[in-house]
Amino acid sequence: MITRFAPSPTGALHLGHIYAAKVAHDIAKAHGGHFHLRIDDLDTTRCRPDFVDAIYDDLRWAGLGWRGTVSFQSDRHTHYAKAISQLRDMNLLYPCYLTRRELASMTQAPHGTADITNPIMPINTDRLITDSEQKRRATDGQQAAWRLRMDAAIKYANAHTGIHSPLIWREYALSADAGPKQATPEIFGDVIIARKDLGSSYHLAVVIDDMLDNVSLVTRGVDLQSSTHLHRLLQALLDIPTPNYLHHPLVTDSSDKRLAKRDKAQAVAALRNSGMSAESMMSILPALPDYESVGI
Ligand code: GLU
Repeated sequence: MITRFAPSPTGALHLGHIYAAKVAHDIAKAHGGHFHLRIDDLDTTRCRPDFVDAIYDDLRWAGLGWRGTVSFQSDRHTHYAKAISQLRDMNLLYPCYLTRRELASMTQAPHGTADITNPIMPINTDRLITDSEQKRRATDGQQAAWRLRMDAAIKYANAHTGIHSPLIWREYALSADAGPKQATPEIFGDVIIARKDLGSSYHLAVVIDDMLDNVSLVTRGVDLQSSTHLHRLLQALLDIPTPNYLHHPLVTDSSDKRLAKRDKAQAVAALRNSGMSAESMMSILPALPDYESVGI
């Protein structure tokens, strides 16, 4: 059993992160397995080294020590680039020169939805820009993002039998949601696989990372469950193993809103500085679900 906690160092950890880390940590421990720490610092413009140090301090203080060497997305660009060129060679990617503003107006999506943090925006942008305009922008030396040809990608995945067909993953949710899940990656449309500014995307990076770290059970918040539909497809296209998944509930505040990094009061460092002990902090977290009952 290899689990992982994969925070982005863009702010201080809060109770929701500690809960997520505890889920991964405790499941690994219960199985004599390995709890791995990965720093999701793909977007270097938003990440800061002092937040990385704070992540180490907070986890150690909370008693959630990890095993082995910490991995960093910023060290893995060659791996991401290799996967991107593999998909390009399979003719499953196409360059997209549209700006966010153009996209938003063309799709009439509310401003800001053309964004990796909100990826559920079915779109086939090759239908939105003419070939000649595409060529003009390329000759102008403009940078392109790379989008997945979703139709072709699904066709490719379905045509290949073996461990990747059908596109199913095993979900260890604690509710009626548990069991084999059929991936429906078409909800993403022609999703961006490589951003122009980063050279990769969250989706591609985490799929490669979990493979490189040999993660056998991905535990993460239920807000990322929809992403798994796309991650499952990428695993099939790149012919890499599919881990099992457990999407856990999110920690909410007293008004039932999920915690966010801007809620400084819930920051682990603030709780620690207020004199709270690590044990008291752990005791205010929601109880961990009974994983044994779902067969983990
Ligand atoms: N780095 C992501 C986050 O902080 C988690 C990545 C993942 O679990 O797939 O939300």
